[in-house]
Amino acid sequence: MKDPVTGLFGRQQFLHILDSEVSEAATHQVSLALLVLDIRQFGRINIKHGYAAGDSTLQAVAKVLADVCREGDQIARVGDDQFALILPAILNSGHAELAAHKIQRLLDVPVYLDHDTIHCAADIGIALYPEHARGADALLAAADEAQRRARSSAQPFCVAQHHPDDEASEHWDIEMALEDAIQKSEMRVYFQPKISLVTGKPTGAEALVRWENPFRGIVSPDEFIPIAETTGFIRPLTEWMLNSALRLASEWEHPWGRQEVSVNVPTRILERADFTDMVISARELWRSEDSRLCIEILEQSFIENIDEVFAKLKGLQEQDVKISIDDFGTGYSSLSYFRDIPADELKIDRSFVAGLLKERDNANIVELIVDLAHRFGLQVVAEGVEDVQTLSALKKLHCDIAQGYFIARPMPAEAYHQWLANYRGINATGAISTSGAETASRLTTG
Ligand code: C2E
Ligand code: CA
Ligand code: CA
Repeated sequence: MKDPVTGLFGRQQFLHILDSEVSEAATHQVSLALLVLDIRQFGRINIKHGYAAGDSTLQAVAKVLADVCREGDQIARVGDDQFALILPAILNSGHAELAAHKIQRLLDVPVYLDHDTIHCAADIGIALYPEHARGADALLAAADEAQRRARSSAQPFCVAQHHPDDEASEHWDIEMALEDAIQKSEMRVYFQPKISLVTGKPTGAEALVRWENPFRGIVSPDEFIPIAETTGFIRPLTEWMLNSALRLASEWEHPWGRQEVSVNVPTRILERADFTDMVISARELWRSEDSRLCIEILEQSFIENIDEVFAKLKGLQEQDVKISIDDFGTGYSSLSYFRDIPADELKIDRSFVAGLLKERDNANIVELIVDLAHRFGLQVVAEGVEDVQTLSALKKLHCDIAQGYFIARPMPAEAYHQWLANYRGINATGAISTSGAETASRLTTG
């Protein structure tokens, strides 16, 4: 319902409008400003000049606000002597401060009545979405607080104080944007090749997720996976990665024999009752004789519910799904489970590989892991191989497979498809398409 005196929206309707403007701002990831204006000593105007003069004052203020408005801005009368103004899609608080200055300047002109002149003054509070609050009610409360501060400090306007929990609100932002990132086709699968240190041939690729957000650019998984894990988004994301990686892998054309496509599965997904079904149905959907699914899990996944997790992994192995233990060496695994471990591969954590040449300890650790893995029939992958020296050291230590920037960086699916088709690592003619491949070929054939 509109206010009969000013013709503006009333409080209830205003709250609805604010609510939808805040959702709009969240969807488009823009800022929004809310200004709350309170007429100073309005009660006294009513008493001294009469209610008609009071109404005229309200109308004069409404007119000032209308004059300051741009298209799309919203004004309402939210209390007896209180108005609110929404400025959607502003760039920064400067915009809102400019509007507040303009309002104050226009209010400086007295209201002329038939027999009277009224000098009307107001206090203004400003709050911004998402900087100060993220919900309509909280935003109004923040603007109210700023307005009261303006009154008590005799300033023309005040801006709300910062959100007490800035870090939490940053997370909240990502959370919101993540929710429909799959629907909006913002998620991408990148692939990073793995090559055999024995034959020099590509053995497959690890699927790594990238988020191409229109406002933030490419967001690294290190930034959003931990948040996805706390919000539950990790479940649809993992399912999407499984399906997308398998679908893309089914299109690979190459002369290198059956390739593995590795997908990272976090512990909390592994623990879910529907985990096995999720994996198997994706595999059935994109079944291909030329590629084999590999699940990368973390060492930590074994710590709790060891029997249950082992049983699930065994079930997958029986259905031709390869199991790889990622970031090996960083967890708390005990040697005792090695005998029964339902895994086919160990990936030595990047931190050991990177320091392989510099620190004797790291070299010892790598040697130990390789030896241990081989004793139990597991393959060993070294990840984070950044130079030829490391590659050659790993080969000497009998490591089976290498992955890292030296061979190739993670790349979009189409680029990987090309990489795989052009790779000439062990081609007898020596025709080679990448420097990494060239060296791999020399090392593995020479
Ligand atoms: P990760 O599973 O250990 O993946 C390997 C990471 O090492 C990747 O980072 C890869 O780009 C990076 N890397 C590869 N070679 C080198 C190298 O030579 N040097 C250096 N410095 N880094 C190298 P990325 O893609 O940023 O992923 C980071 C982590 O995010 C992954 O670590 C994984 O834990 C997680 N992640 C990535 N994609 C997914 C996904 O689809 N699902 C889940 N649950 N987690 C994912
Ligand atoms: Ca991994
Ligand atoms: Ca890893």
